[in-house]
Amino acid sequence: MSARNIIIAVDGPAASGKGTLSRRLATQYNLAYLDTGLIYRAVGRAVLDAGTNPGDAVAATKIAEAMQPDALERDGLRTEETGAAASEVAAVPGVRAALLDFQRRFAATPPGGKAGAVLDGRDIGTVICPDADLKLFLMASPEVRASRRASELRDRGEAAIYDAVLASLKARDERDSGRSEAPLLPADDAIRLDTDALDADAVFQIASELTAKIAEAADEAGRS
Ligand code: C5P
Repeated sequence: MSARNIIIAVDGPAASGKGTLSRRLATQYNLAYLDTGLIYRAVGRAVLDAGTNPGDAVAATKIAEAMQPDALERDGLRTEETGAAASEVAAVPGVRAALLDFQRRFAATPPGGKAGAVLDGRDIGTVICPDADLKLFLMASPEVRASRRASELRDRGEAAIYDAVLASLKARDERDSGRSEAPLLPADDAIRLDTDALDADAVFQIASELTAKIAEAADEAGRS
């Protein structure tokens, strides 16, 4: 019998280091990786492109229901404008419902014959994969996250003013935490890591040790 699939949930606010950590864990442990924020960004982008207001619940839900996986490959998903639209459409219950199955299927049957999946987002540990083998919740102050995000944007050649990035992050935090459907929240059994004081390598080290134990247990369960 082969090892059981393992599922790792990585949640946290914008620019808390979820993506960097998740990608590294996926590579190290041969896991598929899904950036669930990208799905909401794809919906937000499509809503903007259609000239619709991201707060229009009916239009956003229709777009989410018609979303195809190749929409995640398109350009323009990483901009601040798209991030803000993503967080608006993400508060619409119909949008979340339309995207639920795709995320759960990815976790249950990871593509590419991988040994499991890492999903990062806001509600992975609470709603999408409440039975995940490991739940991590990354935190960092808005100021630290804004300076990380500003340098990320500058590295990509985009103009980024720290104060504007900070204001946009705070607005997004407020929307993501304050919404009634699947708000940004650590699951009761999530391990919280404050990344203000930890660099990316230190966060990876902690998460990697936890993942190694889970992978080993899944392997043993598969052999017995
Ligand atoms: O993670 P990222 O910043 O790319 O996410 C963009 C937006 O998508 C978030 O601000 C949040 O509103 C939404 N999102 C969500 N649930 C997830 C992932 C992202 O609501 N699982």
